[in-house]
Amino acid sequence: EVAERLQKVMARAGVASRRHSEELIQAGRVTVNGRVVTELGTKVVAGRDIIEVDGRPLGQPEEKVYVMLNKPKGYVTTLFDPQGRPKVTDLLEGQVAERVYPVGRLDYDTEGLLLLTNDGDLANGLMHPARKVKKTYIAKVRGVPGPAKLKKLQEGIELEDGPTAPAEVKVLEVRAPNSATISLRIHEGRNRQVRRMFAAIGHEVIHLKRTTLGPLNLGDLPVGQWRPLTSEEVAALY
Ligand code: URA
Repeated sequence: EVAERLQKVMARAGVASRRHSEELIQAGRVTVNGRVVTELGTKVVAGRDIIEVDGRPLGQPEEKVYVMLNKPKGYVTTLFDPQGRPKVTDLLEGQVAERVYPVGRLDYDTEGLLLLTNDGDLANGLMHPARKVKKTYIAKVRGVPGPAKLKKLQEGIELEDGPTAPAEVKVLEVRAPNSATISLRIHEGRNRQVRRMFAAIGHEVIHLKRTTLGPLNLGDLPVGQWRPLTSEEVAALY
């Protein structure tokens, strides 16, 4: 019998990534032998201890579910928030029976396309940097960046954690001198990347929305609403 960390056993059982599993534990959604466990260091023995997430035992295969949400501002994409702020999964509660998890992150203040699924393999594949899955962000920024600055964004810009890869940049609207709306298509997904890219050219992002993720397009899905992906959309993700 080998005792292992709870989150490791959960991740291996395909519940969620190790990181998501840790968040589920911290959120009080995991029981071991009937007791809620919130301690990340907890050791369990797979096959002996009974582990349940949201009252469902580990290792029972679930139907794969894929959901597109138009995330509103003011929601966290993490499953556990020390500050207790609203969670994106609250928006699906009672409507999606399966446990689904956000694929990647959007900032608290960012709106737009968020994919949620219980298909861990797909989620990990999509997030892998080598896949270079493209995402489109529409940013409204303070002031109007000139051509030289836009060229910097396009060619790659130096951030604290290294230079960004080349990006597709399109100016959608200019309201000189107050603001501009710019679309940015990138495949990287660093923390607060779009906000930091604009900050690096001296423009604060005042509104940020993601409209595409790989082959998925947000379309006219209203803010705060979700819909299941079509089978064509799921096929295109693989
Ligand atoms: N870039 C950001 O700055 N924020 C997001 O939420 C996503 C990309």
